[in-house]
Amino acid sequence: MDTLYLVKLGEIILKLGNRKEFEDRLKADLKRRLGGALKRLELSHGRIALEVELERAAFVEAALARTPGINGFARAIRTEKQPEAVLAAALDIARAEVAQGKRAFKAESRRADKSFPLDSYGLSSEIGHLVLENCPGTRVDLHAPQFTIHAEIRDKAYVYASPIQGIRGLPTGSQGRGLLLLSGGIDSPVAGYLMARRGLALDAVYFHAYPYTSAEAQEKVIALARVLAGYTGGLSLYTIPFTATQMRIKQKAREESTTLMMRAAMMELAERLAFKIGANSLVTGESLGQVASQTAENLRFTNSRVKLPVFRPLVGLDKEETIELARKIGSYNISVLPYEDCCVLFSPKHPILRADMTRESGAYEELELGPLLDEALKGAERKAIPFSVPGF
Ligand code: ATP
Ligand code: MG
Repeated sequence: MDTLYLVKLGEIILKLGNRKEFEDRLKADLKRRLGGALKRLELSHGRIALEVELERAAFVEAALARTPGINGFARAIRTEKQPEAVLAAALDIARAEVAQGKRAFKAESRRADKSFPLDSYGLSSEIGHLVLENCPGTRVDLHAPQFTIHAEIRDKAYVYASPIQGIRGLPTGSQGRGLLLLSGGIDSPVAGYLMARRGLALDAVYFHAYPYTSAEAQEKVIALARVLAGYTGGLSLYTIPFTATQMRIKQKAREESTTLMMRAAMMELAERLAFKIGANSLVTGESLGQVASQTAENLRFTNSRVKLPVFRPLVGLDKEETIELARKIGSYNISVLPYEDCCVLFSPKHPILRADMTRESGAYEELELGPLLDEALKGAERKAIPFSVPGF
């Protein structure tokens, strides 16, 4: 047996110029994510109707709740556009809600097809009366309802209650592909999620300083990439061996500028990888002033090594806000596992807070990292992280 979902699209509706392209992307993305669970997909007037296998409804809901470009969705009944049919569906829906102990309700109708004989106000009040008559104990509450019965008269009539929120944003890939610098920390997975929501398809790069950082640290990054894959629809995780570069920096750089040099080298390597894989931007979890390497002056310096735009969606958030998001997307519990990704061996006691561009640029050149970076890039290993949602 199949069941139906009505999906509300996000900001796509505002994109007058290239709306069709956005819609096509979302349709293709949904087909890819839902795979065999999807039986039929129809788009009309800013809504997508999905017929899916009933037994896989829980998977479908988890997938839809993570797909960029979707504002919300609900399991719906689709009927012919006749008042009797719509009212019967509304009563069925109400009974299911009442069976869960809910009593206070309201009805909300939308009539996109003006030839339907009842206007939206008329339809809502008919639904209200019918439910009050047939479901003992129910009452209308317009301000704080426990459930709302929605009726939408479009190509067909759709009736539903309890819509589930989506993550909104723009369809995956509509803004091209970004490369996320993914560490084992709390911040970078959240940054990836926020940019995935803005329509970037994402791949990720992790700089691994084995044996100074452990195999467990790498496993942790893979686990984080799996969480992200639920939002991005799958991704490639590149691991770049970074030990030789770090050792050179440790040996040759002034102690207080080692972190800065390391960050600059990471940016440079990330950009070179980005060009290779066709990414148009870099994404980091940096936030202004959070640590020494994230002051405006130091960001200017690390940024000066690259030409691509660098997206830092956490730049204006404080740590509590980031943690809240990390919990929401399901990355927090992994991020707080104890394996450090940045070895204390490489962290100076008194890092520079305000890099002098001329001085540090000269110092960076003197490290002669070129051949080491070439080697590091050659050693990059790619791991495919397919789309999946937790529990399925
Ligand atoms: P996070 O919690 O994301 O690790 P952080 O507050 O610890 O961030 P830094 O360690 O200075 O800050 O890193 C800033 C950003 O640089 C990270 O958000 C991430 O995008 C990138 N980054 C840091 N270390 C690595 C690494 N080993 N591999 C890939 N990217 C990294
Ligand atoms: Mg970190």
